[in-house]
Amino acid sequence: MAGKLQFYNTLSRKLEVFEPLEEGHARMYTCGPTVYDFVHIGNLRTFLFEDILRRTLKLHGYRVTQVMNLTDVDDKTIRGALAAGVSLREYTDRYIEAFFEDLDTLRVERAEHYPRATDYIPQMVALIRRLEARGHTYRSGDSIYYRISTFPEYGKLSGVRPEANLAGARVDSDEYEKEDARDFVLWKAAKPGEPAWDTELGRGRPGWHLECSAMSMELLGESFDIHTGAVDNIFPHHENEIAQSEGATGKPFVRYWLHAEHLIVEGEKMAKSRGNFFTLRDLLERGHDPLVIRYLLVSVPYRQKLNFTFDGLHAAGQAVERIGNTLRRLANTPAATGDGDLPPDTVGAFREDFRAALGDDLNTARALGVLHTLLRAVNTALDGGGITEPVRTELDAALAEVNGVLDVFPAGESGEDGNAEIGRLVAEREAARKSRDFARADAIRDELAARGIVLEDTPHGTVWHRRARS
Ligand code: AMP
Ligand code: ZN
Repeated sequence: MAGKLQFYNTLSRKLEVFEPLEEGHARMYTCGPTVYDFVHIGNLRTFLFEDILRRTLKLHGYRVTQVMNLTDVDDKTIRGALAAGVSLREYTDRYIEAFFEDLDTLRVERAEHYPRATDYIPQMVALIRRLEARGHTYRSGDSIYYRISTFPEYGKLSGVRPEANLAGARVDSDEYEKEDARDFVLWKAAKPGEPAWDTELGRGRPGWHLECSAMSMELLGESFDIHTGAVDNIFPHHENEIAQSEGATGKPFVRYWLHAEHLIVEGEKMAKSRGNFFTLRDLLERGHDPLVIRYLLVSVPYRQKLNFTFDGLHAAGQAVERIGNTLRRLANTPAATGDGDLPPDTVGAFREDFRAALGDDLNTARALGVLHTLLRAVNTALDGGGITEPVRTELDAALAEVNGVLDVFPAGESGEDGNAEIGRLVAEREAARKSRDFARADAIRDELAARGIVLEDTPHGTVWHRRARS
């Protein structure tokens, strides 16, 4: 097993050892995007935290069932579809496709289920029926509201308590201000020109909070292990989910609530409404490497704010380059014939430290720190007596484990992709040198230099790395 695994639980406000309800199986629900536009890198920071979470659970031997919803009906998607003059489905399809492209670009592992809210209207209606039967709802006009005074535990997640003077006041909007606990809408009566469903509750559409309660319980069961989102989801969204789910079932809804801090720009939350955002596409257009973006976004532990800067992106680029250079050196260096200079204990200790870092509430900064320390030891060994075959085998296994979770290694460091051609040229130069064709050998060196490739003739043969960009 991979050691201890503990998470900070927003509900209990402390670190807790993870124990799933069903042995060996971790069930988690991750609030997904509202598909009315491209996601920004703040959203992606949260989705990458969830990617690290699912991969860490797998490292610890759990089977993972992850559900991420796609909010394809709300005020924003409806407004967007109307403005574009297309159906809600057609409009949201575009952004769902773009969302999956972005996930692939950032190497985010796919969840097991991506339910679309509009495919679960019957489950949402059934959930409202259960809440009605237990006395948690009331009608006003043709809309249905949740009466939060009927759920005494309201506020247990966020600490936001219903104010006496607000009791009975209600909101129709899905998002509202902090500290302002009010009855919230479950079912919105149809408005002219808006999409609506004909149901036994009348013609209308579901509230956003209801969507997540209905879809999570349909796909994961009435009680499950982990629910995540960013900190802005704690109130009202997740507080309302608890009121809906526990109000309907009378059972605990979720064991562990994990929330990512925001990605910020110059001290402010990155948000569409503030206009201070970058999409992944914006950064790619400026020539940034997706792997470097991934590295930056996972490098800060999820419970700390991540201040996005281009300097930070640049530093992440250098870190990725250092990793690539060491891996390539390693791949191109034959095993040591003597004792070698990397003691087997170094790799074993690294593996423990790496797992302990991730097991400690996903401390990715510490995990990357120990990785870089290991790679420095690898470089030092390669400069000296090399690395023996058995240590090399252990090292490869440890590195595969690292990349199974962090996934920040450049592709093709063992000679695929664009590197294959460089590898061929390096081999050709070596052959030219052996046959004393120095003119050809120098021409190849120059050609590679022009492409930022630096050659090093070592006792173990020629290795190459990319020149660090300044
Ligand atoms: P939305 O599409 O607005 O529902 O957001 C999708 C997810 O991204 C939610 O879990 C949000 O809490 C999260 N999110 C929104 N803004 C940020 C941000 N600046 N940093 C990190 N996560 C965010
Ligand atoms: Zn949600």
